[in-house]
Amino acid sequence: MVLTRFVFYVLLALLLARALRAFLGGVAQGLHGKPGPSRRIETGVRMARDPVCGTFIVPSSALAVRDADGVHHFCSAACRNAFVARARRSS
Ligand SMILES: [Zn+2]
Repeated sequence: MVLTRFVFYVLLALLLARALRAFLGGVAQGLHGKPGPSRRIETGVRMARDPVCGTFIVPSSALAVRDADGVHHFCSAACRNAFVARARRSS
């Protein structure tokens, strides 16, 4: 079956061309170094993690509580209160 083989090779060539184009497009994008929004956040201040809700916050603008483990930072008073209440209950 010469025809089916020919169709197979044409499809294969199309797939390869598409993959190559996607690859080259990715390389070009990498060279241009488009600054994504996530990259801009990473290059900023060192972030602290709210131990209650897991939100990342900037320590300088966050609520802080110091205990035996060190300083903990919170996104809101609600999270800070929950943490303090939990610490009080466990000790
Ligand atoms: Zn929080």
